[in-house]
Amino acid sequence: MLDLTIMEDLHKLKNELERTKIELKILYEISNAMRTTLKLDEILYIILTGVTAHTGLGFNRAILFLVNEKEQLIEGKMGIGPESGEEANIAWTKIEEEKMDLEDLINAFKNSNEILESGFNRQVRNLKVSMLDKTENPLSLAVLEGMPLHLTEQTIAKYQSSPVIKRLASQELLIIPLKAKDRVNGIIVADNFITNDPITKDDIRMLTMLANQAGLAIENSQLFELTVERAHSDYLTNLWNHGYFQLLLQTELEKAKATKSPLTLIMVDIDDFKIYNDTLGHQAGDKILKTLASLLRNQSRKMDLVCRYGGEEFTIILPHTDKKEAFLIAERIRMDIQKYPFLNEEIFPHKQLTVSLGIATFPENGTLAADLITTSDQSLYQAKKQGKNNTCCG
Ligand code: GH3
Ligand code: MG
Ligand code: MG
Repeated sequence: MLDLTIMEDLHKLKNELERTKIELKILYEISNAMRTTLKLDEILYIILTGVTAHTGLGFNRAILFLVNEKEQLIEGKMGIGPESGEEANIAWTKIEEEKMDLEDLINAFKNSNEILESGFNRQVRNLKVSMLDKTENPLSLAVLEGMPLHLTEQTIAKYQSSPVIKRLASQELLIIPLKAKDRVNGIIVADNFITNDPITKDDIRMLTMLANQAGLAIENSQLFELTVERAHSDYLTNLWNHGYFQLLLQTELEKAKATKSPLTLIMVDIDDFKIYNDTLGHQAGDKILKTLASLLRNQSRKMDLVCRYGGEEFTIILPHTDKKEAFLIAERIRMDIQKYPFLNEEIFPHKQLTVSLGIATFPENGTLAADLITTSDQSLYQAKKQGKNNTCCG
């Protein structure tokens, strides 16, 4: 009798030990993978793959949200999972057949951005939740309290007014906060909406352990990306600096060549800026440069790259833009600047701050970055010679 109980206990212990071994292996693999990169997208993908892969935690679907403290928002960043049972079958069969483990899945992501283009992921990126509304919003509840939230079939109905809960239409789901030191910087929402496997205590424990690692990895990556961005930015105007401009122009030219599309470079120079500086001093001049920089950024399109080339000279790289279109954009910018009420602008000869612009376009003005810089500079010189406050093309 006694022997039998001992045997049973031993069997149970052996099973537990076996499971713990597997769990540790999974966590070890995911945290190792997180150490291989500092790119935020890659980190997020590794975390979500760990949560959803069969060789990981095995959830059907997972979404990662990051906390935007400045705007008090919880923003969807990436989601992994099928949109239907049919899609799940295709994806999971492929993974099974190709015997893809965690490492294979991560490498597949590094080689192709297919996942970022998926319909589900696009929808996720549009999800935004206010952190202030706690009552009907389980996401902000998890962020503010820093505690896992397990919504079961019984409790989930209470949150149906939350757009995220409504969109996911799960029977049961898990919300786990991600922590960096003492602050919650994101959450993972995971469920089994296809297989309807119940979420167990072990699932919650594993995801919580993973979340603690994930929060730190995300914070490191965000700090790294911020440092890189600062190193590429101009201290006064916050635009891209000269060194980064050179790199951007080369990179964009490569892309233009590969896709056989045009690219235009616009060079902008303030007219008679010396007079302003000589009269009001360098600091007043710096303020103007800052205002002009934000005007340039706001007046250009999202895809355009605005840089500070040097003192009071700026460049704008316009991908996929031919000379005709760029000329219209340059003229619009020029007139917007002319209209803008800059501080003390009556000091300028024509009582207003104006700029001159020079344009060069790939491929007609050359195929090298240096060709475009030379031509746009010459066009700018032409614009100055023709009386300033105008745009010339190379
Ligand atoms: P032009 O119409 O021919 O462009 O005349 P300009 O007076 O603007 O001459 P130029 O383009 O050569 O501008 C040089 C002047 O710009 C010199 C200096 O007073 C001012 N400047 C250049 N860099 C800075 C800067 O970083 N801060 C400030 N405040 N002024 C600068
Ligand atoms: Mg100049
Ligand atoms: Mg000037």
